[in-house]
Amino acid sequence: MKVQASLLCLAIASALAVAAAPAEAATPLKSAVMARANTLITQNAAKVHRASGDAFVARDAVVGPNGVEHVRYDRTFNGLPVIGGDVVMHSRNGRLSGTSQTLSSAVRPALRAKFSSDRAIVEAGARFGSKFFGAPSSRMVVYALGKSPVLAHEVTFNGIKADQTPTEMHYFVDATSGQVLNSWDSVHTAKPGPGGAGSASCTPAVGTGKSLTEGNVTLDTSKCGTSYRLVDTTRGNGAVHNMAMMTTGMGTVFTGSTNIWGNNLLNNAQTVAADAAYGVSVTWDYYKLVHGRNGIANNGAGAISRVHYGRNYQNAFWSDGCFCMTFGDGDNGASILPLVALDIAGHEMSHGVTSRSAGLIYKGESGGLNEATSDIFGTMVEFYANNASDPADYVMGEALFPNNAAMKTAIRWMFKPSLDKQSPDCYKSTLGNLDVHYSSGVANHFFYLLAEGAKVPAGFGEGTWANLTPAQLVCNGNTSLAGIGRGDAQKIWYLALTGYMTANTNYAGARVATINAATDLFGATSAQTNAVKAAWDAVSVTAAP
Ligand SMILES: [Zn+2]
Repeated sequence: MKVQASLLCLAIASALAVAAAPAEAATPLKSAVMARANTLITQNAAKVHRASGDAFVARDAVVGPNGVEHVRYDRTFNGLPVIGGDVVMHSRNGRLSGTSQTLSSAVRPALRAKFSSDRAIVEAGARFGSKFFGAPSSRMVVYALGKSPVLAHEVTFNGIKADQTPTEMHYFVDATSGQVLNSWDSVHTAKPGPGGAGSASCTPAVGTGKSLTEGNVTLDTSKCGTSYRLVDTTRGNGAVHNMAMMTTGMGTVFTGSTNIWGNNLLNNAQTVAADAAYGVSVTWDYYKLVHGRNGIANNGAGAISRVHYGRNYQNAFWSDGCFCMTFGDGDNGASILPLVALDIAGHEMSHGVTSRSAGLIYKGESGGLNEATSDIFGTMVEFYANNASDPADYVMGEALFPNNAAMKTAIRWMFKPSLDKQSPDCYKSTLGNLDVHYSSGVANHFFYLLAEGAKVPAGFGEGTWANLTPAQLVCNGNTSLAGIGRGDAQKIWYLALTGYMTANTNYAGARVATINAATDLFGATSAQTNAVKAAWDAVSVTAAP
């Protein structure tokens, strides 16, 4: 049995949404692309390190420029999930052009557990502690992130941390030795810690949000009889729910007698709901119009956003379990406002995109790349919105802090990650030991240099960083590094994420993935592909020897 009834309920709802033949998956194009890749897997057993007993299930398909097809597969071995066995097949005109995967062996473990699941739960429980909800669960898996795949128990504990962040910890316990091999959380936050509610009787309506951080904005809502709901039928029935300071359950959908939401002030509970509704709608449009992606899961389904979560909760998070985003109230502006600003909403929604594409594991270097992906797209959403109330910048969360015109207070700075006093600017081999919100800095830094080049950010916060020299923005002295612009840079990162990265991609792999993506988009000898290499060099992620 799993956890919190409320989250479980939503998980079921989202599972149904996926099972109900999403529009995207139902297209003849996508099924034809998957069918071609299925043939290629059968024909190329050695290249995908296929063992007898391996089976593959296509999870996603992306067609890049020039007709390059990328089909992502999850792998099982005799029915057991293979953690780290995911593989992306790349092809053109039905011919295999390459694969992306971290698995490098067709050797599989014997499926006899010497260490029982009960003992594995005890072992994992010793790490998690006693404050869990419901009963822990376990399943047998093949753990393939180490040198050689081993049989393991994946034990899941749910609970809530002291800072009110929910946690769903996954522990991988070696079924032979009882050793805990790895662990990670499937709740993805904005910061380090200390399915919609559509209804047939409702019709689309257009209202006004009087938001806290984004000014007065147009919102797509629903009219249900004589009242209105904060449910966006034009974007997959995404809805905003009021948690009313609870930390469990899904809260209730915001309703109103008028189609005006909030009053720009914190004394009205609807105000931050307007920010969340706006942030989600702009992020949805960004993915659709810039990348051709149809919602978080690319299936047209909207997600629920929960606001007013907990008491003085100073974070925001994405949860795979509920396919939902959640926003705390901060301390209501004493030092930090509710965490509903546009770049934060874009950040959280992008965690959903990552989990439904590359699935980057939220630990080590892959976890840093997961966090960076959310910062990159959260920032690109801010530029896309072009909202005078929240001007775009390469700073995360600057709108959350009162009296912050110079942006001296923020959560992260992409062009100079070390401004947070925690994140390294340059790659080093120990990077993966850091919290994922700090190991992300190097990839954020790469993206900034790729888009803008080695120059101090212009157009915002001038003065604050005016003393930074180009030499201080790069790790290798390449002060003539030129940017290719945001338009091309964001397309490269998106194709790398959805077409080339896998669950266990590290920084070296991210370099390869982005070069592959740039090559597909612009050509192997293009200025953009050369700039990708130069920008990685400038953050000390160099070519493999
Ligand atoms: Zn995050």
